[in-house]
Amino acid sequence: MRLANVKGRAVLVRGEGAADIHEISGGRFGPHPQRVFDDWERFRSWTEELDEAPEFKAYSLSDLGPPSPNPRQVFAVALNYKSHADESKISYPEHPAIFTKFPTCIAGPYDDIVLTGKTVDWEVEVVAVIGHRITDVEPDAAWSAVAGLTVGQDISERTVQLRPPIPQFSLGKSFRSFGPTGPLLVTADELADPADLELGCNVNGINVQRSSTKRMLFSVPQLVSHLSKVVTLLPGDLIFTGTPDGVGIARKPKWYLQGGDTLESYVTGIGTMINKCSQPVSSSASTQLEEVPLR
Ligand code: ZN
Repeated sequence: MRLANVKGRAVLVRGEGAADIHEISGGRFGPHPQRVFDDWERFRSWTEELDEAPEFKAYSLSDLGPPSPNPRQVFAVALNYKSHADESKISYPEHPAIFTKFPTCIAGPYDDIVLTGKTVDWEVEVVAVIGHRITDVEPDAAWSAVAGLTVGQDISERTVQLRPPIPQFSLGKSFRSFGPTGPLLVTADELADPADLELGCNVNGINVQRSSTKRMLFSVPQLVSHLSKVVTLLPGDLIFTGTPDGVGIARKPKWYLQGGDTLESYVTGIGTMINKCSQPVSSSASTQLEEVPLR
């Protein structure tokens, strides 16, 4: 199943068309995309019993919002690909290295990324969306707690993230618009192998990241299990599962996003996001930040 958020309403997607879930379910589910996750089990059963194919109408890509627009918790994973740990010159973690992105950073798959300074970087990632309230699950039961997967960019203001005396990952990665997600949420059964998905991103058409989720140090089920042993995961929560190598800060010379840049991010089998980079309307304190060296 493929789901999307079109103008703030949950839709089923088939090909180029979308069907409004609230309308075709006679008001049982939706209309807000977040409500679908709250009732995921009954929603899945209903879609399986849908015997009459609804009418799928054309929609505009610019109308797409984030599949889970108001998650209560957003987790992210640092150094979850060996190639990214290598380029960061940090040893491989023995346990998942978790931080949060604050939920108000979540943006849509075609929204602008509003740059906050001169050291804003890209990180393409697969994002898992939680479909159940869960605590303390084991990895072999964790896929069933995942509603589906989508594409994400863990946009990072490297200066705020890394400046002394201690790194501030959660803040540096939570500026407004720093969490584009979409374009679709795809359930795992739609993917030939949900543990082997190609992901990548291009800046102004130049490929800067390309890898596969099979190279993750901790798999989606391992991450869900690990988190669920500490916190209660809630329907609609997001887990940004880490980025492969190719980020701007690790390049020589360093390469950061600039106003007017186009960032294209894809996961094979899920879709592509296109986010333009714009300068903030008014200058904020962060534009005065000095760059700090990579730790
Ligand atoms: Zn990341």
